Amino acid sequence: MMKRFRTLMLSLAATSLTAVAFAGSITVRSGDTLSSIANRAGVSVSTLRDLNNISGDKIRIGQTLQTSGRSNNSSSVSSRYERPLWPLMGTITQRYSYRGPKRGHAGIDLAAPTGTPVYAALSGTVTFSGWNPFGFGQLVKIRGIDGREYYYGHNSRRLVRVGQRVRQGQMISRVGSTGNSSGPHLHFEVHSGNRIINPFGILPSSRLRQASSR
Ligand SMILES: [Zn+2]
Repeated sequence: MMKRFRTLMLSLAATSLTAVAFAGSITVRSGDTLSSIANRAGVSVSTLRDLNNISGDKIRIGQTLQTSGRSNNSSSVSSRYERPLWPLMGTITQRYSYRGPKRGHAGIDLAAPTGTPVYAALSGTVTFSGWNPFGFGQLVKIRGIDGREYYYGHNSRRLVRVGQRVRQGQMISRVGSTGNSSGPHLHFEVHSGNRIINPFGILPSSRLRQASSR
């Protein structure tokens, strides 16, 4: 009897809340979005994506989403205290459209005058700083404290060395047009495990949240 009552309560709650939360997971109901679920679970959309290996915004009704615990990919556990910020406030000239190797654009392009400072989106350790022969030109790669690897391409100058620890907002390079580039811009790319993810999914919605503003 008690059990039946609880089940009834649960289904009533389901209609009003549109999602049932239990023990670190949520079942997607009609009308849910990734951000509404993230809100309800008290986690960021990027954490939700990481925990469930979702790269876009597609979820389906009936799908169970993990809302806590470690991601399958232990290297992409996000820091609770620091989130990526915009590496510079340039004009977005190309968005992410990656669909696999050599298909689509694997990052975002932020156009800015040559010499504009580029700031570390997140604290981390420099894993590469040098010439990339495959189009990135003068490239800086930083392994963020969230386990993701951040690529900053086409620089005119690099200001950090491999192995160096950088903090969020530290100037790491200056905008340029080196490599396969038609004009001065930053190519910003984010690797999470073996996936190349959409930077829009992890950057703040306000473009004013520049890393250097910290
Ligand atoms: Zn690009």
